[in-house]
Amino acid sequence: MNKTQTADALERRRALRAKTAAPGSCQCGDVSGVQCAWAGPLAETVLVEWMPEYLRASHVAAGNAGMWPYNGAQRLRCERSCADNIVIESDGWAKIV
Ligand SMILES: [Zn+2]
Repeated sequence: MNKTQTADALERRRALRAKTAAPGSCQCGDVSGVQCAWAGPLAETVLVEWMPEYLRASHVAAGNAGMWPYNGAQRLRCERSCADNIVIESDGWAKIV
């Protein structure tokens, strides 16, 4: 291994460490399928309870949406503006808890 390769390997390890050391990242990607770039302290996130689309019809048929965690809803830690978007776009199937 020459010096350049060693430096590359070190840089890669440093980047990896920086990522895992980040206090938190937003979980909005679980809903949208696209992970946003936000990372920050837990205090800047809110907990969103979101019902996956494939479960909604059965809850409508049952006449109620049940209670987390038994109803299949997912709880996600999201940055505030992402959480607001999820609530707006879910048309009543997501709320901040
Ligand atoms: Zn997000």
